[in-house]
Amino acid sequence: MSQFSDRELGMDRDITRRDFLNGMAVGVGALGMTRSAPAQEPAGQSPYYPPVRTGMRGSHDGSYEAVHSLKDGTFWKHAAKPIDTHETYDLVVVGGGISGLAAAYFFRQHAGESARILILENHDDFGGHAKRNEFHLGGRMQLVNGGTVAIDSPTPYSAEADGLLKELGIDPLAMAKKYPAINVSGDLGLKQAVFFDQETFGEDRLVVGVPARGRGRTGANPTSWKEFLAKSPLSEQVQSDIARLEEEQVDYLPGLSSAEKKDRLSRMSYKDFLLNIAKVDPGVIPFYQTRTQGEWGVGIDAEPALDCWALRMPGFQGLKLEPGSAPHMSFTAAGYANGGSYFFHFPDGNASIARLLVRKLIPSAVPGSSVEDLVTSVVDYSCLDQAQAPVRIRLNSPVVRARHHGNPAHAREVEVVYLQGQKLFKVKARGVVMACWNMVVPFLCPEVPAKQKEAMHYLVKVPLVYTRVGIRNWTAFQNLGMSGAASPGMYHTGVNLSTGPEIGDYKCSRSPGEPIILGMTRTPCQPGLPVREQHKAGRAELLATSFETCERKIRDQLARILSGGGFDPARDIEAITMNRWPHGYGYEYNPLFDPEWPPGEAPHEIGRRRFGRITIANSDSAATAYTDAAINQAYRAVNELISA
Ligand SMILES: Cc1cc2nc3c(=O)[nH]c(=O)nc-3n(C[C@H](O)[C@H](O)[C@H](O)COP(=O)(O)OP(=O)(O)OC[C@H]3O[C@@H](n4cnc5c(N)ncnc54)[C@H](O)[C@@H]3O)c2cc1C
Repeated sequence: MSQFSDRELGMDRDITRRDFLNGMAVGVGALGMTRSAPAQEPAGQSPYYPPVRTGMRGSHDGSYEAVHSLKDGTFWKHAAKPIDTHETYDLVVVGGGISGLAAAYFFRQHAGESARILILENHDDFGGHAKRNEFHLGGRMQLVNGGTVAIDSPTPYSAEADGLLKELGIDPLAMAKKYPAINVSGDLGLKQAVFFDQETFGEDRLVVGVPARGRGRTGANPTSWKEFLAKSPLSEQVQSDIARLEEEQVDYLPGLSSAEKKDRLSRMSYKDFLLNIAKVDPGVIPFYQTRTQGEWGVGIDAEPALDCWALRMPGFQGLKLEPGSAPHMSFTAAGYANGGSYFFHFPDGNASIARLLVRKLIPSAVPGSSVEDLVTSVVDYSCLDQAQAPVRIRLNSPVVRARHHGNPAHAREVEVVYLQGQKLFKVKARGVVMACWNMVVPFLCPEVPAKQKEAMHYLVKVPLVYTRVGIRNWTAFQNLGMSGAASPGMYHTGVNLSTGPEIGDYKCSRSPGEPIILGMTRTPCQPGLPVREQHKAGRAELLATSFETCERKIRDQLARILSGGGFDPARDIEAITMNRWPHGYGYEYNPLFDPEWPPGEAPHEIGRRRFGRITIANSDSAATAYTDAAINQAYRAVNELISA
């Protein structure tokens, strides 16, 4: 419960930038749109520079209403006749994410540099989930990912995906060595913390110094779990059960072989494992409930225990399970159990991959020639859609229809209709790659067979929010001795100082007296429901929550966690960007809820089938949420088109 007034939280402060319209599910028709206004565009740069926009980003207003209206069946009731642009392309790509940009790249490799390609994207920036957030704090540029974070996948990058990275100049292994993430908080001895909130744990209390263990946790910390938990508001029984899970070597399934144990663990949720097998007090559950959300978008009630073992969650150390994957595991868990891919991340995440692809496709738009100069390079958005250029990227242009001229089996052309502002336009294409979210394809292509439409609707994407808060300095973190805190019961389930590698001229915040960006994550879901229903409920909640409500929650949360270190939300917050992704991660099958389909008959395999001169890419087509999958699917979709 907040003890702070709006004034104390700084709700009246004129930060860069708060737009109360953003994030409201404003009741506009399909053609009546608002578009987020530019803010803090750096001096001397093109006036159109979406990476610096703040407020409600991700799926910003103006990007989704048309397709929602198509879904509701209201769009064509209000629509005027599309205006003919008289443009004809060899390829139209729907969706300017990594998959769409990679599709344009692969097609061009096959068809030559003069091939005419148009990429249509509904957002005001390219990159899809791979979005760049650029803050200018205290006169210095600070970068962070607005979505897709890292070159990191459960399985090794394919020859095509690895080859593309190399052609762009990215050698992940070499770059990871040359440009390691800067560990300023580690150098200062700052530790991870847990914030126990009053609503969930009965009392607001920050406990610093989480003992190190588990995937993703950094910093060796000699404190024992017993010592750490003794400072928490948890009951003695709950403390003792958590310490047992974290530290003791108990075989909770004695008498079974490793394979038999894995089989049993794959058929129960982690929550059920904790309650019924490890027999912990129910008060333990809120401590772990949200731990799996960052990976799968749902809590431990809906994630198999075996998948949680692969993520090195506690309780399994005494079971002596053989390393490696087993049947009935999710793609992510099975992959990480077998080792995963290489890992590297740019200061703006995989937005750098998108920017490098655009540099290859439209060199004048992205100045420079190396991965090093890319990081601080200023994109000239006015070059993206130039009439004389063979490749064009048209932003703010949701596609609302892609239809063959004549029978899809024999047609030689597809007509693509898109919305820009209040008007509809049409272009012709010899082929179309739908690199957009697969579940929107049925609304854009009514001719697709019913079975294929049904398959695409099955793939319910995972809603996620990556919030970025620019603050004046991080002395409060230093004073509290912490680099970040998990807050398992709160609106955002954690807050962390964001630091990345320094590449080229880019420098990150090195001293607590300097401004920095905080990263906060929220994964809305509804525990207890089947997994896809949880994602739908989370999406509805996200779209119905105003930015004002979110801002108040952000300020309140930061005040409650950090005020003990001297943080004042009214004084210290300089900018807020909420990257809202109602359609986030591509859906990955969950062994607790999804059947095993015969080869070739899984929804993503039926959904991605070629349809006349239209093929289907996007990471959705692989039923995963990874950049290599987005590239692999682009490669397949382009090859299907070429050989059609
Ligand atoms: C918050 C977040 C973090 C992630 N972190 C990672 C990570 O660390 N590593 C990793 O490998 N993957 C990560 N992912 C997964 C990410 O989805 C993929 O890596 C990859 O970026 C997906 O690319 P894509 O082109 O397939 O899809 P998208 O990036 O979603 O691009 C599809 C584009 O099509 C557009 N579109 C939709 N409908 C239309 C229409 N009607 N008209 C025109 N355009 C349309 C969409 O708006 C979007 O821009 C993350 C995803 C999210 C949401």
